Amino acid sequence: MGRRPGEFDLIARHFAPLAGAERVLALGLTDDAAILKQAVGQDLVVTADALVAGVHFLPDDPADLVARKALRVNLSDLAAKGARPLAYLVCLSLPASIDEPWIAAFAAGLGADQAEFGIAMAGGDTTSTPGPLTIAITAIGEVRTGEMRRRAGAQLGDEVWVSGSIGDAALGLRALRGDGMPGLAPAARAFLVDRYRIPRPRLALGLELPGDGIAAMDVSDGLVQDLGHILRLAGCGAVLNLPEIPLSPAASAVIRADAAALDQALSGGDDYELLLVAPPELGAAIQEAGMRATTPVRRIGVLVEGDGVVLRAADGAMRRLARGGWTHF
Ligand SMILES: [Mg+2]
Repeated sequence: MGRRPGEFDLIARHFAPLAGAERVLALGLTDDAAILKQAVGQDLVVTADALVAGVHFLPDDPADLVARKALRVNLSDLAAKGARPLAYLVCLSLPASIDEPWIAAFAAGLGADQAEFGIAMAGGDTTSTPGPLTIAITAIGEVRTGEMRRRAGAQLGDEVWVSGSIGDAALGLRALRGDGMPGLAPAARAFLVDRYRIPRPRLALGLELPGDGIAAMDVSDGLVQDLGHILRLAGCGAVLNLPEIPLSPAASAVIRADAAALDQALSGGDDYELLLVAPPELGAAIQEAGMRATTPVRRIGVLVEGDGVVLRAADGAMRRLARGGWTHF
């Protein structure tokens, strides 16, 4: 294992080339702070997420993909809030096992995503740690003043929408852990693993959606758990129609072979899709936003009196997620 250069050299070689943009004055990462040039009529939206090796990614995941996931989980939060990405800061806690080639690949992953999403590094920090590799990113975006989309504000009778497909990442993680999924074709396995490793933040959809009247968040901890956050704020429950919940062909194949995989798909997490709750009269606008963003959106349920999430199967049978698993009733 090669020794790492000092912090100053690491930053100058690998991170300074990523720093700065027209409105992100990062000063070559040679100062203690950066300057963001705020636009008139915009609010800054700030979000942070930390990823820990062994918790949020596998220690042997490729460094460039780890970097992109760390950035993208933050971009997914900006997407949910309807914000346009502007800048980010990254704090790395590096165990001794991380060498310079790993850091070079990590920086290359960040650089690729900066180009894809139009965001610039504004700064950060690196430190050594006796613990696991930890990547903490703070992302900053912009929305028109007063228009950040909230989790709160949903009401009885509102409809529940979700983008993309649900459960791929949870099943991809299961595949990476070597938990057998008999009969899963290699291409389907590769699709699921890719969905776990590289989230697709739904920024275009976030920007196209109506600025008012939608409660929203991204699905990071599982569809059922995350909807629960919106429901608690609304003081409501929800009924989700199982046949309407969008599943990819790969996830559908897994679930056909193993019915228990459905629960993993619905509560597994790492989807980074957008979860929207809106009054029925906004349904057409949500569908049109999905078309403009070329992102599928699907209406999957409705808010009802009560609390928690109830699933309605195609045959009308209802069941609910309780602590420790699903209960039928
Ligand atoms: Mg989130």
